[in-house]
Amino acid sequence: MVRNNICLNSHPAGCAENVRGQIEYTEKTLKKVKGQTPELTLIIGCSNGYGLASRIAAAFGYRAATVGVSYEKPPTENRTGTPGYYHNLAFDQEAAGSSLIYKTLDGDAFSNEMKKLSAEAARSAAAEMMILPKIDLIIYSLASPVRTDPETGVVYKSVIKPIGKSISGKTVNIMDGSFQIVEMESASEDEINNTVKVMGGEDFALWIEALNNEKLLSPKTRVIAYTYIGPEHTWSIYKNGTIGRAKDDLEKTVRAINQKYTEKGLIAGAWVSVNKALVTRSSAVIPVIPLYVSCLFRVMKEMNLHEGCIEQITRLYRDRLYKEKSCNSAEPETVPVDENGRIRMDDWEMRDDVQALVVEKMNAVTPENILETTDLTGFRNDFLAAHGFGIDSVNY
Ligand code: NAD
Repeated sequence: MVRNNICLNSHPAGCAENVRGQIEYTEKTLKKVKGQTPELTLIIGCSNGYGLASRIAAAFGYRAATVGVSYEKPPTENRTGTPGYYHNLAFDQEAAGSSLIYKTLDGDAFSNEMKKLSAEAARSAAAEMMILPKIDLIIYSLASPVRTDPETGVVYKSVIKPIGKSISGKTVNIMDGSFQIVEMESASEDEINNTVKVMGGEDFALWIEALNNEKLLSPKTRVIAYTYIGPEHTWSIYKNGTIGRAKDDLEKTVRAINQKYTEKGLIAGAWVSVNKALVTRSSAVIPVIPLYVSCLFRVMKEMNLHEGCIEQITRLYRDRLYKEKSCNSAEPETVPVDENGRIRMDDWEMRDDVQALVVEKMNAVTPENILETTDLTGFRNDFLAAHGFGIDSVNY
């Protein structure tokens, strides 16, 4: 049931296959190195997209205990559960089958209560692992349209809008390939501030503070928040819009965390990782992005550079965070970063040759040629798969 690029239902068996496929890829790609790779990991936003891949890679690649936090809905009599609900169930089942230690928490990550529960879960996971109660890796991978401020109870809503001027952008209906011109009004000051409140760094800072108060941080702790930048032709809606403003705030928070904790030797470091544009439940609803991603996928697949969530995250762990030399906590600066201190997993997406071909495609695409010239089919397949549909091995 897909309406306006939002899928309203999901399939449990297909979601379980998603998880198993990512586990299989991870087991071939990563390997645990005692004393170097993480043993206890916290993933905030663990049930879908980049967060799910981050959890699977830590658990099945490094055999780390994982505490996962997400906000999902179980099935009711006349509705299926959300895909993340089934992903979590499948993850737990596979982790149990592989004798891994895991704690899966469902509830609002923005609340003080969930921070407390996560700390308790981390301590109990550490006890089962017979290791010190210190979290080695914290991944912040939330994508949410609302946040309730834990102190005031005020509910803030984020919007996806340009800033400064209204724009119109071409977007594509991923199910039938039809185009739509979407008019987007410039955001008001309130809308900008509310989006920063939801998707900016405030809650991320509160998490680190709560974990520090719980004495769960150590000089080995690495902290990562995910972001996106993208090429200039998406900036009017993304980087220079409300979401971009929130992501700037997230980056500012990462710098503040480094000042407050890394410089005092309390953690190994905090980074933003700029990830590649991919099909997840969140990205399909951002105007312009589905068309851009369909063109990007076509180009990257033809150049043999294509990656999905699990390929991105295993590369992040193997070639950046736990790259041989960077494993020594005394030298966290050896994590490869750009001139602004960011980890760049969008390096292949942003290559000049890739972007030149993408721009060519975006300029030439019409509703008539979209199936031949772009990878709309790949986008649609990934979108359906993210909800457990269209998976070959499932007998629906
Ligand atoms: P997603 O929608 O697939 O997953 C979001 C996760 O957040 C889910 O696990 C969900 O349960 C959880 N969540 C949402 N609200 C919550 C709440 N109140 N409490 C607890 N959990 C909650 O998202 P995604 O596309 O994987 O994005 C994750 C991060 O990666 C975001 O910061 C996003 O900006 C970034 N990113 C995404 C892309 C992309 O193309 N999708 C690219 C680069 C970076």
